[in-house]
Amino acid sequence: MAVSDHVDLPTFMEGVKKRNPHQPEFCQAVQEVAEDIFDFMADKVQYHEQQILRRIAEPDRVVSFRVCWEDDNGNIRVQRGWRVQNNNAIGPYKGGIRFHPSVNESVLKFLAFEQTFKNALTGLPMGGGKGGSNFNPKGKSVREIMRFCQSFMTELYRHIGADVDVPAGDIGVGGREIGYMFGQYKRITNQFTGVLTGKGLEWGGSLIRTEATGYGAVYFLANMLAHKGDDLVGKTAVISGSGNVATHAAEKIVQMGGKVLTLSDSGGFIHDPDGISQDKINWVKEHKTHRRGRIEEYVAEFKGATFHEGKTPWGVPCDVALPCATQNELLGDDARLLVKNGCIAVSEGANMPTDLDGVHVFKDAKILYAPGKASNAGGVAVSGLEMSQNSERRAWKEDELQQMLKDIMMGIHNSCLTYGDNGKGYVDYVKGANIAGFKKVADAMLAFGVV
Ligand code: NDP
Repeated sequence: MAVSDHVDLPTFMEGVKKRNPHQPEFCQAVQEVAEDIFDFMADKVQYHEQQILRRIAEPDRVVSFRVCWEDDNGNIRVQRGWRVQNNNAIGPYKGGIRFHPSVNESVLKFLAFEQTFKNALTGLPMGGGKGGSNFNPKGKSVREIMRFCQSFMTELYRHIGADVDVPAGDIGVGGREIGYMFGQYKRITNQFTGVLTGKGLEWGGSLIRTEATGYGAVYFLANMLAHKGDDLVGKTAVISGSGNVATHAAEKIVQMGGKVLTLSDSGGFIHDPDGISQDKINWVKEHKTHRRGRIEEYVAEFKGATFHEGKTPWGVPCDVALPCATQNELLGDDARLLVKNGCIAVSEGANMPTDLDGVHVFKDAKILYAPGKASNAGGVAVSGLEMSQNSERRAWKEDELQQMLKDIMMGIHNSCLTYGDNGKGYVDYVKGANIAGFKKVADAMLAFGVV
């Protein structure tokens, strides 16, 4: 008689917590998935006998390494780098690299775990991974950032490859950092391959990759509204963050007829009751990306706007909300406030921005709520298309890619309906996304036997 993992959810989670002490983010991400998967697996003997959930919740490997670099004053600095390769059942590991002081093994394991299901949902052949460092790019000179990226890649290069593991950008890693890392990879290996995505257009990048995550999150939101016979025209939106995902989400909301009221950064949020128009979004992009400025400077530029230091924007009444900054930035009380103020839909641009309490609030209130693994998959989807273009050694046109992104987001929405529509007018998108993503990876794992 085979040993089965047919235990109840609390016992399963007790085991996860015991095996991963001091990794709260990772345990939180596993619990969120397990809550849905347990019901789905109840009568699926093979999944239990093969310990599939237990195996997915154990990364294939975690590589941890030292990253030394020299600052502009000649001091030697020591940082820690990681690559978490969670699961490659359906394709090469794929997931971003994050540079932020809050990065640790727990955060990267949660991100790699989530990425596994997200990538499966896109329908493209990509496994799940994530990497990064506790390096803080803020206040560093361009040359310091280049030296750090080169040192990081000097170790990372031996663990990645176009058919092995293909990293991309994430918080603190944009086109500039991808350029420095790609340059170092090419220098060490003497190979020009699609080993990273988010590359510049002149050297193998894809059109619309920069815009894809934010645009995709709004397409997903529009799909949820359309399923209810509604749209974005005239809707007010509250958005957090002011980086890549937030500014492109804002742009697409404006293009689709909505009005954006807020943006934020780690210093606080700005509220602009007149609406953050395309011109203002362009200013934010330039200010945050090229001038490396702070969002509070928006109020000196645009009259009528206010800055709220140290606060998140969830108390501003709105029709729709898009958390696009970081994990656990929207807590239970924030969720209750949003629902109380009449918010009808939430589409996550960031990864796990809503804590477990907040997730339960949205589910209980039965509002439209899209978890990041479904709604922010547009970025990795276009990364997958960048990999295909690199393999083919050609570049597709912008309108082709725009259409593919829209189709992929609609496909993910449909997958969520398959497992999340209760048939009584409510769609549980968290459940739908978790089951659809899990099933694809689990069935591939079954085919490989115990490896
Ligand atoms: P950026 O670095 O471009 O922007 C991050 C934004 O979030 C900045 O405004 C930053 O403010 C804010 N932020 C970061 N950390 C915190 C914090 N601890 N508290 C408050 N605000 C914070 O990153 P992206 O826009 O690329 O990523 C945002 C989110 O989207 C992340 O969760 C990422 O994993 C997720 N994501 C990104 C994808 C992509 O394609 N880029 C794909 C899928 C998901 P400040 O300037 O003050 O640091």
